[in-house]
Amino acid sequence: MKKWIWMIGNNFDDDKYKKSFEKLKKLGISQVLLNSNEATLENLLPIATQMDIKIHRWLITLLKNDKEIIYKHHDWFTINRLGESSADKPQYVNYYKWLCPNNPEVQEYILKKVEALSRISEISGVHLDYIRYCDVILPRGIQPDYNLIQTEEKAQFDYCYCPHCREKFKNLTNIDPVDSTDPSKNKEWLQFRYNSITKLVNKIAVIARSNSKFISAAVFPTHMQKNVRQQWHRWDVDAVFPMMYHSFYNEDINWIEAETKRGVELLDNTALYSGLYIPSIKPQSLSKAEEKAKIGGAEGVSYFNFDALQNYKIKMSR
Ligand SMILES: [Zn+2]
Repeated sequence: MKKWIWMIGNNFDDDKYKKSFEKLKKLGISQVLLNSNEATLENLLPIATQMDIKIHRWLITLLKNDKEIIYKHHDWFTINRLGESSADKPQYVNYYKWLCPNNPEVQEYILKKVEALSRISEISGVHLDYIRYCDVILPRGIQPDYNLIQTEEKAQFDYCYCPHCREKFKNLTNIDPVDSTDPSKNKEWLQFRYNSITKLVNKIAVIARSNSKFISAAVFPTHMQKNVRQQWHRWDVDAVFPMMYHSFYNEDINWIEAETKRGVELLDNTALYSGLYIPSIKPQSLSKAEEKAKIGGAEGVSYFNFDALQNYKIKMSR
């Protein structure tokens, strides 16, 4: 079982990185999905290489909270079925400002970023996160946190109805999705949005692979694919990391096995690593959760995240 970890590493100095990597190695973790600023990345890459820790750049792909981009490129952001931009009226949380995968300028922006990243020789891979649409329906276990009961696709949470998406879909089907009485029942419209993400992922994968990088993505559990428009089993990536955050779905650890199995069954040549939500797993149950992933057929697990694992004092010192 290969072990991975999601790690947010801003403001780490060299010594903190060395110590952190030593801890990870003791736990058998050698693959780090790292989100950090550029300066931190530059500093830590030689340390990681020396310690034989593989760094995969964890990319927040379609979520954008950059004031300059919002100001200069307001039209890059997704629009819901009420005609509201996610840049102005984000759903659920104020950082839910999403770029539209069908906007050619957005694609160019993301592909350029991946190209630059892929040229860094010490980076082992590119890991895509937030490579999807805003959740039209949230995971059932967290709906109460937002005082919501979501049983159907409501216009407010349904994206994207920007001019690019409407025109592209109209060219294919002669239907403008805003004219549809209930777009949530239109299978072609759903498939169009699945394909919009798939096409972008596959373009990114070509760039990463041409630079010999491993390409992977953090994705939602199988039953959530429709809610975030993520048909991830059709993506041309080396590995998927379904976020099997059982507590988000009011499930227990046993669910990890069944969900891993469902994911593995969908895939042909893509590896699956079960994403484990550490804050909802007691230290004494961690090995059981890993076992469930293994029985389900996963090639390994990924811990979310480093900070949560830091709280596992007993585990860390074993
Ligand atoms: Zn759009």
